[in-house]
Amino acid sequence: MKLRPIYEGKAKTIYEGPEAGTFIQHFKDSLTAQNGVKTANLPGKGIMNNLISEHLMLALHEIGIPTHFIRRMNAREQLIRQVEIIKIEVVVRNIAAGSLVKRLGKTEGDRLPRSIVEYYLKDDKLGDPMLSDEHITAFNLASPQELDDILSMALRVNDFLTGLFWAINIRLVDFKLEFGRIFDENGEMRVILADEISPDNCRLWDKSSNAKLDKDRFREDLGDILESYQEVAKRLNILYDLNQMA
Ligand code: C5P
Repeated sequence: MKLRPIYEGKAKTIYEGPEAGTFIQHFKDSLTAQNGVKTANLPGKGIMNNLISEHLMLALHEIGIPTHFIRRMNAREQLIRQVEIIKIEVVVRNIAAGSLVKRLGKTEGDRLPRSIVEYYLKDDKLGDPMLSDEHITAFNLASPQELDDILSMALRVNDFLTGLFWAINIRLVDFKLEFGRIFDENGEMRVILADEISPDNCRLWDKSSNAKLDKDRFREDLGDILESYQEVAKRLNILYDLNQMA
């Protein structure tokens, strides 16, 4: 059956789902950095991200974070709830790295005085510029109530995932989340967690050696990209699923 694509992203394609209110999220092997300037194909990467994101979304569901994840369908695809994506990228940082180091002259690896949440406009053409709360509400990207919900969910996700990764000897340095709107059973609009959580959009450092186990291996040409993603999956104890996949 030929599925109708709804949205073609850099690392994923969203297809029409098998029933109303659903989409299929397909994980590709493509890797991009510098807003699409640097690209590569890494066979097997999409499979890793599908598995890792499934695991983390299910864990977050267990602590009461509403997510778009319904179930994994196969090695590369998951069934998700149809949401209207809020055009904001929400970044949570615990340790100085990446653009924070570049923009504010901080030292990579320094623990931040507290977790810092940043917002960026999801717009490749504009290079995802940073947004203040004021921009978000003034330009109606999200309502004040939605922004409150997003902030409290992002901080909860951070606390929970920090502990989850700590237990497998990994530091959660920073990560990016996306949220979407759905109508619940009472016809009320609600914000839920969407997109994916994987080494493509998290910085994950080995706690003992500080080795990078995420997309920075691609951004910084460090090699062993797939091996690092597999290491994360192995520590999460989910690699066994590969044997069940065709
Ligand atoms: O580049 P920067 O330091 O701002 O990235 C912060 C975090 O957000 C990193 O974990 C990065 O992987 C993620 N991110 C992302 N997609 C973007 C920008 C950042 O997943 N468009």
